[in-house]
Amino acid sequence: MNSRRILLVEDEQDIADLVVLHLDDLCDEIVVANDGHEGLRQATMRDWSLIILDLRLPGPDGLEICRAVRRERSYQPILMLTSKSLELDRVLGLDTGADDYLTKPFSVLELAARVRAILRRVENLQKPASQDAADKHSIQAGSIYIDPARRHVTLDGISVELTAREFDLLEHFARHPGRVFRRAELLDRVWGYGHEGYEHTVNSHINRLRSKIEGDPSRPEVIVTVWGVGYKFSDQAV
Ligand code: CA
Repeated sequence: MNSRRILLVEDEQDIADLVVLHLDDLCDEIVVANDGHEGLRQATMRDWSLIILDLRLPGPDGLEICRAVRRERSYQPILMLTSKSLELDRVLGLDTGADDYLTKPFSVLELAARVRAILRRVENLQKPASQDAADKHSIQAGSIYIDPARRHVTLDGISVELTAREFDLLEHFARHPGRVFRRAELLDRVWGYGHEGYEHTVNSHINRLRSKIEGDPSRPEVIVTVWGVGYKFSDQAV
């Protein structure tokens, strides 16, 4: 098992101390960067099991760091700490790609629960060609091809770069064509937790996924909105 290394980029010392105190037992190493410059350097220097990024930082902010990391490693799990829900559209936006977020002030217990869920997921992915993944057959749905063992997706034969979460979401949908999922259900199954009030995360990830796999993301034909209920993977695509 690879060691669990967490990078925390947070300029407020009391919050950083509190987070370290509560996450220390969950990981082998937790490194704190107190400003955006150090955060950017550490974040792009190597792989982390998880990067926890405060949005507002002196120097490059959380969004800039997030983008820089995504340019190099689409799979890196990133959890953003934000202070205003107004900022959510940017945090979860198409060009940024945070996997998850918490709004300040947050409960450390909730943070620990999120971190545990993310680390569990990362470790499942790291298991050497897990039997589980090898047993899962690939999926062809219209022009989309999903290879679960390699966690690779192509669209009309062209490779599509997805974050880990976008991949999980797409695979989950594609395994259940025609089935309608409520947002809370998707949070529970794909994110591994079902906190109320975080449905926004689901919408944003679906928008991001659509921008990568739909011919016309404003008229989605693969992941379809079912008004008042949730989303489904079109059975027409299969
Ligand atoms: Ca801050």
